[in-house]
Amino acid sequence: MMAQENEFMYQDASIFPVKEYSGLVEGACIAIHDVTELAEAKRLLDLSLDQAIDLEESSQRDALTGIYNRRYFDEQITQEILIARRHNRPLALAMIDVDHFKIVNDTHGHSAGDQVLKALAGKLNGMLRGYDSLCRYGGEEFGLILPQISLEHAGGLLERLRKAVASMELQTPDGAKIAVTISVGVAPLRDGMTPGSMVKVADDLLFQSKREGRDRVSCMGV
Ligand code: GH3
Ligand code: MG
Ligand code: MG
Repeated sequence: MMAQENEFMYQDASIFPVKEYSGLVEGACIAIHDVTELAEAKRLLDLSLDQAIDLEESSQRDALTGIYNRRYFDEQITQEILIARRHNRPLALAMIDVDHFKIVNDTHGHSAGDQVLKALAGKLNGMLRGYDSLCRYGGEEFGLILPQISLEHAGGLLERLRKAVASMELQTPDGAKIAVTISVGVAPLRDGMTPGSMVKVADDLLFQSKREGRDRVSCMGV
């Protein structure tokens, strides 16, 4: 970029004493270098890095709810399993599905359904620890990765989340009130489990919660 395109000139200035043969300082030499091009190149590089970080961040997010997306979930569960095994720490995975969500859409419309999903994701996310990852697994199903937590504590947390959702009430623009419940399955990481088998165990437990009447949490071995 040409220097004249900038409002200011970036300068690199050096000042040297100018001495007589006897060593007496008789003046100063000031050297000013125009480093506008260098400064501008650095600014553009910083901007590109910021944009790359933003792009990376948005590629991990679900557009509707702002929580992590399925792609992030798949990467993160793989990572967390490796970390849990390396450090011999517990890990739990919860699969969460909204009950009778089709009825919400059919009764109040798809856009009201979208607002419910947004509010639900916000509510759940607000009750989690910083290193938990709430992801939109697909449609009205969420995957929640819970590192460093025992199955018992994971079950307790999911029970608190279930209750919080059940007591939420959303108002549509035309004044109708919408309440939803969630069904949950919670699986701990056990020897030999893969990301896929962990999801399958949590999903099977989720369907157990559905079969047993919905609005409940089922934990492996509990
Ligand atoms: P169940 O208790 O068995 O889970 O019943 P359900 O009605 O929730 O399950 P079903 O799988 O029959 O329906 C899921 C519904 O979720 C159907 C689909 O239109 C709706 N859905 C999925 N994604 C979205 C979305 O992004 N926005 C809205 N508004 N609805 C969605
Ligand atoms: Mg559902
Ligand atoms: Mg579903």
